[in-house]
Amino acid sequence: GAGGFDLKAHIRSVPDFPKPGILFYDISTLLRNGPAWRGAMDRLAEVIRPYEPTLLAGIESRGFLMAAPLALELGLGFIMLRKPRKLPGATIGYDYDLEYGQDRIEMQADALRPGERVVLLDDLLATGGTMAAAIQLLKRAGAEVPVAATLIELRFLNGRARIDVPVETLAAYD
Ligand code: IMP
Repeated sequence: GAGGFDLKAHIRSVPDFPKPGILFYDISTLLRNGPAWRGAMDRLAEVIRPYEPTLLAGIESRGFLMAAPLALELGLGFIMLRKPRKLPGATIGYDYDLEYGQDRIEMQADALRPGERVVLLDDLLATGGTMAAAIQLLKRAGAEVPVAATLIELRFLNGRARIDVPVETLAAYD
């Protein structure tokens, strides 16, 4: 595994969750293990540091679990990209299509300063729809997005093809 430790050994796959036929990759087992969680965050910090972020952004909700410790480790702040109507004050949003229906992601309108280099974080890249929407939102708000990063990539869904910035992932499943 990346950085000499085996991330996949700490990720559990749960059949038929949240619906029959879906194999869900669960990071709860990683979060419960202090040294493994530390190892994963250290590795991710190493991967994103060369992109010279000035700010991090986490996608609700498991992206927050990564943005917070990485911000501390890199000496940066972070912002929350949230589901609709969760953030107080003026917000800007981006609407995107799901397999069935629509969704929306929001951020606070005053969250960015000009020229901010925002690294985007989430736990898992599947079809890429969520990450693509978050990148569009950040760019619309004036950010540069030098890279997006996740712990897990479901490579067979080819989510990368929808993402127009570099994508770094620590463990890929085929
Ligand atoms: P996408 O938009 O299809 O790439 O889905 C990615 C989003 O759905 C991320 O925010 C993930 O947290 C969540 N997600 C999709 N599949 C899984 C999974 O197997 N485990 C954990 N989260 C998942």
